[in-house]
Amino acid sequence: MNHKPVRGKVGRNDPCPCGSGLKYKWCCMVRRPADADRIREYYLNQYSIRLKEPADIEGIRQAGRLVVDTLDHLAGQIRPGVTTDQLDTLAHEFTIHHGGIPAPLNYKGFPRSICTSVNEVICHGIPGNRFLREGDIINIDVTTILHGYYADANKTYFVGRPSPDARKIVDVTRECLRRGMAAVRSGGTTGDIGWAIQQHAESHGCSVVREFVGHGVGFAFHEEPQIPHFGRRGHGIPLVPGMVFTIEPMINLGERHLKILSDQWTAITADGSLSAQFEQTILVTEDGCESLTPFDLS
Ligand SMILES: [Zn+2]
Repeated sequence: MNHKPVRGKVGRNDPCPCGSGLKYKWCCMVRRPADADRIREYYLNQYSIRLKEPADIEGIRQAGRLVVDTLDHLAGQIRPGVTTDQLDTLAHEFTIHHGGIPAPLNYKGFPRSICTSVNEVICHGIPGNRFLREGDIINIDVTTILHGYYADANKTYFVGRPSPDARKIVDVTRECLRRGMAAVRSGGTTGDIGWAIQQHAESHGCSVVREFVGHGVGFAFHEEPQIPHFGRRGHGIPLVPGMVFTIEPMINLGERHLKILSDQWTAITADGSLSAQFEQTILVTEDGCESLTPFDLS
């Protein structure tokens, strides 16, 4: 949506008729460069959201490029017989070799450089001596710090030939991310994203995990806002250019409920059904969004 400044009889405190969700006094009434600062200040005070400037965005984009390169580097190694620890070592070495830092390592005590979540594991699986088997699905979550900027993305892969259930949950989840990203526009809301994802998942008989959400990212691993993968259109925080956050739907083939294992990290489906996830780091722009960790979702 391009931003057409509005003139005429609108009250200072009226919602801006351009649909940005902001008050007129914060938006078209005074939209001059200086007011980008005022919006930045407003989002920080109102929502604790740190809007990113062009130099920040470029820094996150470079970190994002290394994240996607790391995922591509691992993709070629995913086959039956490989352990999740071997994938972790490959990711760690690749990241360090390219000047990055793996953000999960020692984050709140997490003992490895990536998360590997296999089959019924929803997220935060800890790499270890688990062997991959023919027909498994594995999600690999990579978050990298480069020159102080964070970027975060994940993908779910097939190990050998997928079962019909494995193919279904991975295809539905990939499409959930694509639709969540398609819902991002300046003047829209965080609720629009959740709604688009929930509609697609539930219309295919799958369910949306609610305990884990997308999050602001860039200056830190987890920032405001939170991006739930369920919700109502028009609800939540108004989206404005400069917001950077992840969209990372976790979709279960069965019920949405989960359990956390005794390692205090690994989340699994309560009913043992398969779970898949896809994640990208997204920048809100004047006319929609740009992925800062772009990979194909078709
Ligand atoms: Zn994330």
